[in-house]
Amino acid sequence: MATRPRVQGAWVRYVRQQNLTLVGETADLHEFLFGSERNDLARVRPVLLDLQHGRCFYCNRGIVGETAHVDHFVAWARYPVDLAHNFVLADSRCNGKKRDRLPACPPAWTERNAQYGAQLGDALGQHGIVGELATSNRVAQWAYAQTEAAHGLTWLRGRDGTAGGDVAGPDPSMNGKRRRLSPDISPPLAHRVPT
Ligand SMILES: [Zn+2]
Repeated sequence: MATRPRVQGAWVRYVRQQNLTLVGETADLHEFLFGSERNDLARVRPVLLDLQHGRCFYCNRGIVGETAHVDHFVAWARYPVDLAHNFVLADSRCNGKKRDRLPACPPAWTERNAQYGAQLGDALGQHGIVGELATSNRVAQWAYAQTEAAHGLTWLRGRDGTAGGDVAGPDPSMNGKRRRLSPDISPPLAHRVPT
């Protein structure tokens, strides 16, 4: 498409102006932002299927490999770069309902990455996907902070809520206990981001 380079150029400039710290010391910002478009997410699926024991990240139901959706935890619409630690596997129901909203279960995501982050980074890094956990953490922090500042909605298995602390409800690791969202976001993300 003829307009694509111009759009990409504008996006690169926007990212440089707004969020340079997110991409850290990556030398070629354009490559970092758009090289990932070539990634074949079919290669990601079996890695996540194994990691999640064949279950949906959001609802914990069993899923068949061929119908499993490789989902960007922080949606592609918000941050259009493939990052290894930003991928989760979801069934079609959760993937369809979540759309581009932020999930209201960041603790489950940080716990997953704390436990399997190295494995995930190695496996997907072999396919040319950025496998630095610190980068994914910075992006998630930025996305949740933006959503909270804008009083935006998060998604929790079919229900909406705000990112500012009004959301309470189970995530797959919580066994139905209710929790406020906001206090749980920053500490686990922040303490893993190198200074
Ligand atoms: Zn699900």
